[in-house]
Amino acid sequence: MMAKYLETKEQYKDCILFYRLGDFYEMFFDDALTASKALEITLTGKDCGLEERAPMCGIPYHAADTYLNRLVAKGYKVAICEQVEDPKQAKGLVKREVIRIVTPGTNLDTNAMDETKHNYLMAIVCMADRFGVSIADISTGDYLVTEVDGCRKLLDEITKFAPTEIICNDSFFVSGVDVEDLKNRLGIAVNALENWYFGDERCKKTLLDHFHVSSLAGLGLGELNCGIIAAGALLQYLMETQKTAIANLTSLNTYFAGKYMVIDSSTRRNLELCETLREKQKRGSLLWVLDKTKTAMGARLLRSFIEQPLIDKEEISNRLEAVGELKDNAICREELREYLSPVYDLERLISKISYKTANPRDLIAFGTSLSMLPHIKYILSTMKSPLLVEVCEQMDELQDVCDLIGRAIMEEPPIQIKDGGIIKEGYNEEIDRLRAAKTEGKTWLAQLEAKERENTGIKNLKIKYNKVFGYYLEVTNSFKDMVPDYYTRKQTLTNAERYITPELKELEDIILGAEDKLFSLEYNLFSDVREQIAKEVERIQKTAKAVAAIDVFASLALVAERNNYVCPKMNEKGVIDIKNGRHPVVEQMIENDMFIANDTYLDNSKNRISIITGPNMAGKSTYMRQSALIVLMAQIGSFVPASSAKIGIVDRIFTRVGASDDLASGQSTFMVEMTEVANILRNATSNSLLILDEIGRGTSTFDGLSIAWAVVEHIANTRLLGAKTLFATHYHELTELQGKLSGVNNYCIAVKEKGDDIVFLRKIVKGGADKSYGIQVAKLAGVPDSVIERAKELVEELSDADITERAKEIEAAGSAPQAKTATKVRNRPKTYDQVDMGQMALFDTAKDEDILKELSEMEIASMTPLEALNTLNRLQSKL
Ligand code: ADP
Repeated sequence: MMAKYLETKEQYKDCILFYRLGDFYEMFFDDALTASKALEITLTGKDCGLEERAPMCGIPYHAADTYLNRLVAKGYKVAICEQVEDPKQAKGLVKREVIRIVTPGTNLDTNAMDETKHNYLMAIVCMADRFGVSIADISTGDYLVTEVDGCRKLLDEITKFAPTEIICNDSFFVSGVDVEDLKNRLGIAVNALENWYFGDERCKKTLLDHFHVSSLAGLGLGELNCGIIAAGALLQYLMETQKTAIANLTSLNTYFAGKYMVIDSSTRRNLELCETLREKQKRGSLLWVLDKTKTAMGARLLRSFIEQPLIDKEEISNRLEAVGELKDNAICREELREYLSPVYDLERLISKISYKTANPRDLIAFGTSLSMLPHIKYILSTMKSPLLVEVCEQMDELQDVCDLIGRAIMEEPPIQIKDGGIIKEGYNEEIDRLRAAKTEGKTWLAQLEAKERENTGIKNLKIKYNKVFGYYLEVTNSFKDMVPDYYTRKQTLTNAERYITPELKELEDIILGAEDKLFSLEYNLFSDVREQIAKEVERIQKTAKAVAAIDVFASLALVAERNNYVCPKMNEKGVIDIKNGRHPVVEQMIENDMFIANDTYLDNSKNRISIITGPNMAGKSTYMRQSALIVLMAQIGSFVPASSAKIGIVDRIFTRVGASDDLASGQSTFMVEMTEVANILRNATSNSLLILDEIGRGTSTFDGLSIAWAVVEHIANTRLLGAKTLFATHYHELTELQGKLSGVNNYCIAVKEKGDDIVFLRKIVKGGADKSYGIQVAKLAGVPDSVIERAKELVEELSDADITERAKEIEAAGSAPQAKTATKVRNRPKTYDQVDMGQMALFDTAKDEDILKELSEMEIASMTPLEALNTLNRLQSKL
């Protein structure tokens, strides 16, 4: 047995091998050491001819799933080696085979998963600087492919899909992606596959065979060279692990990251789209506010909507129209939601059905769900908006499947598939006949019991049954003497004796024979029904997608109504005009409708950059995030928390906010901050929205101010970037950029002074804050009075001190030369004469542009001569 074990283990070196021995799965050697530790089970040993006993541990087969899922969740691969012949009939060693390999990304056990999340497996093929990426969720049948350039974009895709497992070629490890970070911080299992998986021809053939097509062009894969390899390798890996055809992957969808808004991984985290930054939980995220879906499919689709906002105006408008119609038609919406409520996870059920792991109860759940479809479809058919009409068309009522289940499967069947009680009466004649034999058998038994009582005179004689002896006659000790000769004694108990008779034996054969036949026929018929349903996988998946979509639109509509959202008007002119915007999450978290609404206005000309000042705790981050979230919500097709909103579609949202959360990744806070700034400045476009909070805070004041200043200049320059930006800062000096750099405006969040204290008004107003109120905020936070008083004294002293002197000191002490520039910035007169020439040039171009723009926009024909003269005069004075 051990020799056989080692032979098998040799083929599955990278897996923990679950080796079936009787009622246990046993593990040996290193596997036993690993598993006993990971599962906290006892490590024992087995004598197997070696000098030392082999380490061994085992788990009972009926509890295997729990242990298996725990190992897989920790990132291990587990190969399950089963007995594939009946031990009773086997000659010599029972034949064993690995029937399945379970890995984090290929697990089919729905108990191990969050039903509102996909369980993605991602295959990445790295070729030069291009990556082929294919993603599949085997539990739902989703299968996608794309290609991306460069590590950053790849990382964006990885964080978007958050797979549980990545399979890759060797080059991936030297592609620049931080694999350890993927494993440790994001908890993704990363497995390199052998080279043969990535053979060009082999991958193509796998795909052609799987989809029964003769050319890949038909699948829309013509140009995707590395994509094809990724998709092919992924499919081979699935076949390798499942050891069967992957029937529920019925289509391969090509997508391009450029079709969606680009959100990098830190922005995704910072905006708390699907989970909160710190606790990593759904409560407190945007998804939490928007998710009122009724089905698991809807929940997953909504999540992917949020993860991939659209950038196409028509697509967004279509979604908004669907949401609008359901918002207005509350009666239909609520009725729809009622019918959606009992619908189970059709996608995961059909996958279980495809892989033959669905039990009779799964089929009943499936049938109940399907019986809702005609109602849902009927209500949908009354809808007018194009997207809802399309969803309605996609929805197949699947009544044939529903009828089949209704006719074949008992209403309350057992989970077990081998003990009968599954098939309904009237579905199959043979079943009915065998069942009758079984019940008639019961009558015969009763008749026999009566007859024997009569014959023997033993009043309490009983016919009973147990699994070991079958049927027997039981006689208590007091009547023992009355037992006739033709009774054969089988067993003696303390107070009774058990017997059989030839007649009873004959009856038993008939009854048990009928039962055996019945159970195996029931099992066969059940499998047959399951297979018939499996054949309809494509129709079912399409319908499941339609159900998911209607669930999402109804959820968005309900949230819009409950939370008082409005329909955003989308434009491609770059104007973002939000009136009385609210933060979707914060407004839900604070009590009594105390949230103060604020306007946001950004456009492509005079209002590109808002410099936002105000004391700590005033509400700057909340305001900036709310603006970003409102834009994002609009682009997923949701209504938004505002009294009105015009949203110019943005191609990317970047955020750079508080750095403390990044400490975990091992880089210094400032380094992380600057890496992100670098990324933003390199990758943002003039159609992007940037949220920058306290840039430069992680270093000395002079350096920090200089960096912040230069960043604003760079963004403001339309030839370099020109992105719409909300920029919160402590550096009051930056407010001087208004009027000097085109498109820059100052805002601050108002506070009211009340004696020594301040009151937060939470209202954004034009203009820069004149004070930072740091001491007042410290006081509010409960810093002891003595410290507050001392701080006040120091402020007085320091503001009197000559800052230039200090700067000189710093320079003399050999500090960074940037201090020089920064000193000038701090001490400059109100003109820019003293600013670096490099900076000067930037200012000049920006200013010229402004004047030229104004000139070109002048409507001379409608001006009076005096107006024209005045305007010219004003423009000249700006030069
Ligand atoms: P800052 O970034 O200026 O330090 P925050 O944006 O973190 O301030 O806001 C501080 C707190 O004020 C938040 O926790 C939030 O609960 C509250 N807050 C912010 N904006 C508003 C608002 N518009 N209405 C009500 N409360 C708000």
